[in-house]
Amino acid sequence: MSAAQRCAVVTGASSGIGAATARVLAAQGYRVILGARRLERLQALAAEVGGVAAPLDVTDTGSIAAFAAHLPAGIDILVNNAGGALGLEPLAEMDETHWSGMWQSNVLGLVRVSKALYPHLLRAPTGLGHVVNIGSVAAHETYAGGGGYTACKHAVKAISETMRVEWLGQPLRVTEVDPGLVETEFSLVRFAGDAERAAAVYAGMEPLTAMDVADAILWAVTRPAHVNIDEIIIKPRDQARVGMVHRH
Ligand code: NAP
Repeated sequence: MSAAQRCAVVTGASSGIGAATARVLAAQGYRVILGARRLERLQALAAEVGGVAAPLDVTDTGSIAAFAAHLPAGIDILVNNAGGALGLEPLAEMDETHWSGMWQSNVLGLVRVSKALYPHLLRAPTGLGHVVNIGSVAAHETYAGGGGYTACKHAVKAISETMRVEWLGQPLRVTEVDPGLVETEFSLVRFAGDAERAAAVYAGMEPLTAMDVADAILWAVTRPAHVNIDEIIIKPRDQARVGMVHRH
């Protein structure tokens, strides 16, 4: 890799929004470094886009350290995308395993990876590092059964704001991208592989595609250097709010 080539790290690049973002950034000339737990999928995508696949479990500080050790000194973009929802239990039936799993990946994982890559972002080949945190409409609204996930994504919003406060004056930008319903493996993971239940989430409506979200990320990272896009909320036209969906 040439020292001056722009470089982007995408966490959770083995599926959905992360994989689409890797494709879009690679098409723009970024050298993409892909992290996730399912290495075979990452390797296939890396071969397709000319990027690098590296195992990464954002819940494990050792895994993050090993991932960071193989990065070039300078990184232009970090897309903190790894995460998702587990379960849909009401608070009165709170599942500790689900809550801690979601907190570990969506919140602590995001902060851990950002901490590890912070020195790399300060040495971005373009002179401007950019962190893109994938939040959700769940950072802005709550819903029955979504207590654990919405608490996590509200935390992501607080963390994005804190990054902008703490890094003010440094050559860093911070954007949060908050999608509504996107058809990925998200619901399959949430419902522990129950494909019928996952499909029902998108039944009769037209959800966003992962590419729609990747396109929003691309727009945010290609603004002029003096511009910081703080937040993008992006929903399907068939969705007015969480849980308020037009089904044809
Ligand atoms: P997805 O298809 O299930 O992708 C999730 C990705 O996160 C996978 O690549 C998964 O890879 C990775 N991941 C999960 N836990 C990880 C861990 N511990 N370490 C490293 N990677 C991990 O779902 P998606 O919709 O693309 O989700 C991406 C992000 O968008 C998530 O933060 C999610 O909360 C957010 N989001 C999704 C929607 C939606 O409707 N789909 C809406 C709003 C926000 P491995 O399993 O291979 O590790």
